[in-house]
Amino acid sequence: MPDRQSSTTQNGVALLRIVVPDQTRLDVLNSMGVDLAEYKKDVDGGIEVHAVLSPQEAQDLRNLGFDVRGAISDQTDLAENKAQRQAAQSLAAAVAGEADKLTPLRAEWFDSTDNQRFLSVEVKSSATDAETVLTASWDSGRKTAPDSGGTATMSRFTDAGQYMYHRFNSPLTVAETPTTVTITSNHGTSITVPVTKWLGDKRKAPNKHYVSDFVDHYMDPTELTGRITSLARQFPQISEIVDLPNKTNGYRRAAQAQFGTAAASTLYVSSKAFGSEGGNDLSVALVKPDVASSPLSVKVTGKDVVVSLATDESAAISSTSRQVVDALSADASASALLTASTYRGNAGAGVVAAATATKLSDNLKAPATISRAPFQQKVLRIGKKRDGSKVGVFLYCQEHAREWVTPLVCTETAERLLRNYSRDAQTRKLVDNLDIFIMPVVNPDGAHYSFYDYNMQRKNMTNHCAATSGDPGSRNSWGVDLNRNFTVGSAFDGYDGASTTSCTSGTFAGPAELSEPEAKNEVWLTEKYPNIKFAMNTHSYGGYFMWPPGAYKAAGRELLPRVDFGTENFFWDASGHILSAVQSYRGTAIWPGRTGPVPDVLYSAAGNSADEHWFNRGIMGWDFEVGADLYNPTTKQFQAVGFQPEFSEGHEEAMEFASGQIGILETALAFSKDDKAPKSKLDVTGRTDTSTTFTFSINEPANVYYTLDGSRPTLSSPKLVSSGMREGTQQITVNKTTQVRWFSVDIASNVENGYKPAGNNNNYKQEKVEVRKVR
Ligand SMILES: [Zn+2]
Repeated sequence: MPDRQSSTTQNGVALLRIVVPDQTRLDVLNSMGVDLAEYKKDVDGGIEVHAVLSPQEAQDLRNLGFDVRGAISDQTDLAENKAQRQAAQSLAAAVAGEADKLTPLRAEWFDSTDNQRFLSVEVKSSATDAETVLTASWDSGRKTAPDSGGTATMSRFTDAGQYMYHRFNSPLTVAETPTTVTITSNHGTSITVPVTKWLGDKRKAPNKHYVSDFVDHYMDPTELTGRITSLARQFPQISEIVDLPNKTNGYRRAAQAQFGTAAASTLYVSSKAFGSEGGNDLSVALVKPDVASSPLSVKVTGKDVVVSLATDESAAISSTSRQVVDALSADASASALLTASTYRGNAGAGVVAAATATKLSDNLKAPATISRAPFQQKVLRIGKKRDGSKVGVFLYCQEHAREWVTPLVCTETAERLLRNYSRDAQTRKLVDNLDIFIMPVVNPDGAHYSFYDYNMQRKNMTNHCAATSGDPGSRNSWGVDLNRNFTVGSAFDGYDGASTTSCTSGTFAGPAELSEPEAKNEVWLTEKYPNIKFAMNTHSYGGYFMWPPGAYKAAGRELLPRVDFGTENFFWDASGHILSAVQSYRGTAIWPGRTGPVPDVLYSAAGNSADEHWFNRGIMGWDFEVGADLYNPTTKQFQAVGFQPEFSEGHEEAMEFASGQIGILETALAFSKDDKAPKSKLDVTGRTDTSTTFTFSINEPANVYYTLDGSRPTLSSPKLVSSGMREGTQQITVNKTTQVRWFSVDIASNVENGYKPAGNNNNYKQEKVEVRKVR
């Protein structure tokens, strides 16, 4: 019987932990449409993810062999035991194989809340097999022994069945700041690399008149929209409301009633009119006549439908649910008011029970002040000069309904910009020189539902289900995942992480790309205002900072194209600035391991909005997952915060990520002012008697185009790439003395030396790379 009840009791639905052995298994879970949180964490024995599951759904997953554990609150991570165990294993595995090559990716220390200091290390071994064990040792400051800080075994990180690199499950606490870390492989190789500082860039202390902290409770979409409307009225010189052209379906649905207990004898009815438009006034009765051999008949009086059930010779009911459904469908008056269906596609051979007149209900619990009409979505546009001449930034929040903190982030940012404009010079620079579009709630219908009916609602409310899953017990599972409804790398294109077939899947992509008005509105805005160059898609939870590409095909982990070398470095550079802004509020450090392209740190999300904006319109977009794990110094564990933490915590998350959004605006401002050309140089990095290896270094994120055949470099020439995921610059090897010609272009399109790649001048850079006997 219905498992997810459409009621406020939630019927045992909870946020549970699932541990899968590897990414391949996680991809299976993801492609099954399980209602996953945007969160994953390496744990002993695999990867921990969180899913919203009813008791039946949890049981179904267990039956399929998934390790479904308890609710997320109590985490007994076995990090210490694990380190000990792996150290023992590494001894056993220390059968010397062939020496491997170790490539350091990242080695960083950072401070987070409670003045706790952490170490994060990522290293790639050329030996990709599971028997390769890497151990990291670090010092405890300058002139201390190389292993005086501690030693730990690293975890092997695999994705879609492929080895990626080694890292720690979570950053390790350190008492003193390490200067170097030494990574040793059980194959006998060892490297020592410097540990650099992650985040904590010095930020100017805010002007003492700077005001912040404008959100003091969780807000529903009606209140949020009222709030930005009133802000635009208060600050007409520097802001306005943009009405989006597509109204949502609205916080409304059909009224329904269900009769019966066993599936074969159950039927349900759905009103043709929405509940709020007359559906809630309908009633249906299944009446047993007290006579033998009575025929099945239907009578409609006004809004009341009475079914007189058939009886046999002994005056017992003989109508099956199928027969009642057919009789209701055949009656013109009844079928004008409602549709009738058997339960979830059942043949309906069971005899029904009598039922007194039962009112149909849409079962929506929001007060009458929440409109049941299609919702007018609004964007608050902030800027002194709103004529399209300034660089545009699109900040949007709450694509997923249950992520209650996210609209507070957008609202807080809007308030800070408007209320500090007259008193803070830095705010004035942002507002005077940028065109800022703030959309606090992308998914208003789903969010109203999450507030008043079913708090774990992720999708919008639109029912695309056929009669087989249109029953009242499926109502909490209807809707489209708006962040899977876009057109690039979508499930319709074969990418992983959304369902095109199950209307009740947690990641249902909709009946087609851009089927939903909410998704159409996002695209409309970015097309209508082509000056938008940056975007931020804010979700919760886990503390992630991500950028495109965001999807892959599971077979072979075929990724959407990675961004180019210069853009990737721009994203990393901006991360330092933006995440330091987040950190400036209460110390929260987003981990290096939770920073990067989406599939490198989370999982494939087919048809998400950031990919849409980047691949179709070149908008550099990020995704925040607000709500970083909280470190508990007593238990020495990180704990997940969930979708709707107590407001005191939600408030802190809104404050710190609003600071992050301001950091994005600062990044956009620097981009808009950037008229300085990049400077690059050629560095020889290795020589043998028969070859020379070199690369380029550049003083800012930029792309390098080069030729090795003496020709004039153009934008069609080979482009410098990264040597691999999270690795450094490509190394180029030549086997004979070569004249290298090149130029660099930064992200704001400034070309080194003012060189014109399409022109005739020869003011590119050039250098002869010699190949000669080393000695
Ligand atoms: Zn989300």
